[in-house]
Amino acid sequence: MKIGLYPGSFDPFTSGHLDILLRASHMFDRLYAAVLINISKQPFFTADERILQIEAAAASLNLKNITVGSFSGLLINYAKEINAGFIVRGLRAMTDFEYEIQIDAMNRKLAPEIETVYLMAKPEYSFLSSSVVKEVGYFGGSIEGLVPEVNKNLIAERLIRR
Ligand code: ADP
Repeated sequence: MKIGLYPGSFDPFTSGHLDILLRASHMFDRLYAAVLINISKQPFFTADERILQIEAAAASLNLKNITVGSFSGLLINYAKEINAGFIVRGLRAMTDFEYEIQIDAMNRKLAPEIETVYLMAKPEYSFLSSSVVKEVGYFGGSIEGLVPEVNKNLIAERLIRR
């Protein structure tokens, strides 16, 4: 069975993330989307909120082979735990590339048997990030199209400055 792992902060889960999830779901028998719990970085959305966002978005596209979870510590250890042979990452600008090339080298050293595959962001999502969503939402701007429709209202309400 071909198992893929799509890790990220997903704070929040955006339309760009969903596009990668959808495209990667066709490449594997089972695809895990995993929320990184980073103890040194304070996220806006709790891990549970982010998991629910991914589950709702996957269900809205009727994706049946997705499992959503969370992990802390080394990505490679989590990949081994769930028997993933592949890690999936999305690539937007050159800055993503520079970051990913370092991580790739380290992961390859730690676990040469696990291959990372990179999917190019669609042009319409190549300037979309979780930070942009947070900034627009905080100041009350419309996040229509920036996050999966099914999560839009919940995310907007959580973000808006009170
Ligand atoms: P991380 O902190 O791991 O980079 P993110 O939540 O920012 O987590 O992103 C998770 C993955 O999704 C990364 O591979 C990132 O490059 C990719 N990604 C983020 N935004 C987009 C987008 N708009 N289109 C395609 N891929 C994206």
